[in-house]
Amino acid sequence: MTDDGNFAFLMLQAFEFAILRREGAGKYAFVGKPPAFYDDLFPPADGHPNVEPWAISPMLEFFVEDAEGFFARGKPGFIASGVWEEDGLTEENTALKAFAVDLGGEQAIVVRLLREDYTERLGVLRKAREQLQETRLLKSDLTIFREKSRIDGLTGIFNRTTFVELILDEIKRSRILEYPLVLLILDIDDFKKVNDTFGHLVGDKILQGLGAALKGSLRRNDILARYGGEEFAVLIPHAPLNEGAQVAEKIRAGLAAMVVPDAPRITVSIGCSSYSPDETPESFFKRADDALYAAKRDGKNRIRVK
Ligand code: GH3
Ligand code: MG
Ligand code: MG
Repeated sequence: MTDDGNFAFLMLQAFEFAILRREGAGKYAFVGKPPAFYDDLFPPADGHPNVEPWAISPMLEFFVEDAEGFFARGKPGFIASGVWEEDGLTEENTALKAFAVDLGGEQAIVVRLLREDYTERLGVLRKAREQLQETRLLKSDLTIFREKSRIDGLTGIFNRTTFVELILDEIKRSRILEYPLVLLILDIDDFKKVNDTFGHLVGDKILQGLGAALKGSLRRNDILARYGGEEFAVLIPHAPLNEGAQVAEKIRAGLAAMVVPDAPRITVSIGCSSYSPDETPESFFKRADDALYAAKRDGKNRIRVK
């Protein structure tokens, strides 16, 4: 552990934070002795502090996904869990607050108790846990059926309906947890000509190749969909506009160099927007769409930001 990390963790311990140091993707180890509340809420296993409190708390399960996305970016700073208001928990009776902290050399999730009467809260937590398990069972039954209607048949990535659903969710989260979001809309340049010259089957192969190439170039938490005929959309959580624009440029250059066997090269134009917390989802989309239009107008095979 670095001296800085050591010092920061000592400080957090002094303030009764439970500290889970990140040792790798999704892997955490407990630092020091848990504060009194922690073992009560998250029973130890084999005498060791619980290193997966998110398996018990829906609020933390929700948070750890965002934390992993944040850590993957490797930028020093922190994100907070905000207030969890679903499942009957409101600000008033929220028991926990969590932070994901990146100190540069060290990454950790720290959990803090917000209320002293946590033993009462245990009942609330237990109920939420039961609900979560019930939801999971229901989900697995529905998964097979739902998967089909969520996926685009040609490319195997999400379809437009799913994307809209996921983006609305993500906007909600980003507002609660206060992290930035970037939306990219990609459109293949002069695709009609490709179809007219080489036929629809070749066009379809290009769409499939493009879907696969995009999938390979994005991170786990990014959301990718076929948004229309020859349009794709990407949502990048935890990225400010300049970082999103860099991803867009990387995608543009990668696709311009992509080779699909027996098919011509293609290029794409990309519109890029960053969510601003007060705007409607429609306006977020419209700005990316306007930027895409500008990229086309300015000569295609380029990105524009709005
Ligand atoms: P621009 O650079 O302005 O985007 O020109 P474009 O030709 O790409 O745009 P336009 O909207 O005129 O044409 C889109 C073309 O995309 C027309 C259609 O044949 C093709 N397309 C849409 N969906 C599919 C598909 O599923 N398979 C194939 N092969 N082609 C498709
Ligand atoms: Mg189009
Ligand atoms: Mg096009």
